[in-house]
Amino acid sequence: MAGKYIMALDAGTTSNRCILFDHAGKICSVSQREFSQFYPKAGWVEHDPYEIFNVMIGVAREAMMKLGATASDIAGIGITNQRETTIVWDRTNNQPVYNAIVWQCRRTSEYCSMLEKQGWEEKIREKTGLKLDAYFSATKIHWILENVEGAREKAEKGDLLFGTVETWLIWKLTGGKAHVTDYSNASRTMLYNIYDLDWDQELLDLFNIPRSMMPEVHNCSEVYAYTAPEYLGGQIPIAGAAGDQQSALFGQQCFAPGSVKNTYGTGGFLLMNTGDKPMPSSHGLVTTIAWGVDGKITYALEGSVMIAGAVIQWLRDELHLIDSAVDTEYLASKVKDTNGCYLVPAFVGLGAPYWNPYARGVFIGLSRGVNKSHMVRAALESMAFQANDVLQAMTADSGIALKELRVDGGASANNILVQTQADLSDITVIRPACVETTAMGAAYLAGLAVGYWKDREDLIVSTRGSSAAGEEKEEGNGDSSGTEERFVPRIDEEVRSSRLKHWQKAVKCAQYWTEI
Ligand code: ADP
Repeated sequence: MAGKYIMALDAGTTSNRCILFDHAGKICSVSQREFSQFYPKAGWVEHDPYEIFNVMIGVAREAMMKLGATASDIAGIGITNQRETTIVWDRTNNQPVYNAIVWQCRRTSEYCSMLEKQGWEEKIREKTGLKLDAYFSATKIHWILENVEGAREKAEKGDLLFGTVETWLIWKLTGGKAHVTDYSNASRTMLYNIYDLDWDQELLDLFNIPRSMMPEVHNCSEVYAYTAPEYLGGQIPIAGAAGDQQSALFGQQCFAPGSVKNTYGTGGFLLMNTGDKPMPSSHGLVTTIAWGVDGKITYALEGSVMIAGAVIQWLRDELHLIDSAVDTEYLASKVKDTNGCYLVPAFVGLGAPYWNPYARGVFIGLSRGVNKSHMVRAALESMAFQANDVLQAMTADSGIALKELRVDGGASANNILVQTQADLSDITVIRPACVETTAMGAAYLAGLAVGYWKDREDLIVSTRGSSAAGEEKEEGNGDSSGTEERFVPRIDEEVRSSRLKHWQKAVKCAQYWTEI
């Protein structure tokens, strides 16, 4: 095995990180730096592609320096990235023609509404598995070609290239040698046909995007190209790439169909491995590619919750009920329940499975005895209730009764939240010892490609111990190494169904509020 470490480059929305992992999946070095956010108009969000690249090189060098590692110590690089964010650059001079348009940016919402009125929603869902929305890359590329002076002509001449952030980073790191993406990122563009596994000509025509702009789509785990020596002091294979949520699913080792992970970050992202067949959703989820390895595609169902950990920030920054997020556990532990109150944090509408932009937040069921601890507990529980709504949609779409949920993200450190999830969803919740699963996924994908781990079994045994190795074969029969924590349901059915019923009533109150 050449190289002591695998390098994960995690290109996030607000910061870039580099983590060096060893063969046991242990973090050996981390470096992280934030980069600028630009808000040129209300609802618009941009990044500077150069800054993204320069910050990434900076953190990679720093993480290596902390260990005294050189390029030959790095067996391979895996990249994971904020998904959908769109960069268009000129291949003749490597210059982006516009800032990166970030996934959060709503500038193309009206264009999407127009396409919806023209009846494209169903067709787009049938081809890409996605909801017609400004979130995905297609309408962002269209915007750049329509609005940046000279862009359309250059694109028609074949001079412009499109990429999501991993494509841009690979292009830059290799000195322009590879214009590639991976299946998981391709599936978030709203231009990729997840059934034919090709850029969809009808959609390229609809958005008026020349095919010559599109990157080649590759496996998530293979050597794409080598870094140009000037960046990290040598030629290192870039050997893995996946969008952040798919990477976390891989990092959680959700290799078996039916396995699910939830990331409790600012928002909540649930993904379920659905195996080798795309599973259309009729319950408000999107169908997406989890990863492609050795040309074999694994699909996923995905549901996003708009406000998860952000509800805790709201308690801290707007209500001043707490000083820091960790206080919530102590405060909530002072009471045994929420004393009948429910918080639906629909601050920006509701995401999956409701998709209601008109919903707004409600705190309901308040009585004279409700105190700060009850309210904090209700806020924590709101994360679990929302995740449960998505889990129920996944069960309804897939017909698979879920047994386990693997969790990660900042708020998964909270024991009350994780126990509540187990109780409400009647499911065993597993929290891994290391919750850096997004970076781990990219590291695993790259490590498998370069033989740092021989195969998935070697990976599982190396990182979780031999007793965990049977899990992939025997679906959902996790017998963990003991380094992860398990939370099992502790409430009876009557209590559970009463709480779920009240939550549903609260959600009803939140729906369509701004439409009245
Ligand atoms: P992101 O990647 O979206 O920035 P993180 O995974 O870093 O998010 O998680 C940060 C979120 O988790 C914040 O919204 C914060 O309020 C919440 N959070 C962090 N620690 C806790 C905790 N102990 N209990 C509840 N929420 C927490």
